[in-house]
Amino acid sequence: MPDVAPNGRLLDRWGPVEWRGAAESIGQMVDQGWQVTSRCQACDLTMKTDLEALVKVKGHRFSLWNTSPRCRRLGCNGRVVFSGKPGNHWRTVELRAQCPPGKIPSRRQGCGWL
Ligand SMILES: [Zn+2]
Repeated sequence: MPDVAPNGRLLDRWGPVEWRGAAESIGQMVDQGWQVTSRCQACDLTMKTDLEALVKVKGHRFSLWNTSPRCRRLGCNGRVVFSGKPGNHWRTVELRAQCPPGKIPSRRQGCGWL
């Protein structure tokens, strides 16, 4: 984790954009020990996201930021939002944020890799 104080205090002031800057991709999230969950906005189905399995399917550069795939519950047409808890930090952040400064939005996915 970048800029981690031993007590985690520095990170308390971070907003979603800073967290996105630290962990744009699911590969970075795995390296940093993120715990990610998805919650359906329609039916509230909440599931743990298996990041390591996702890396195998989508590749380590895949990004969950600002994505909202369809709910996996049978018959539900809702969409899910992702939230994550970064590493050993206490905070849970919704994975919605603008691209950090110096990164440009990519048409394919996520913020550009400069
Ligand atoms: Zn649902």
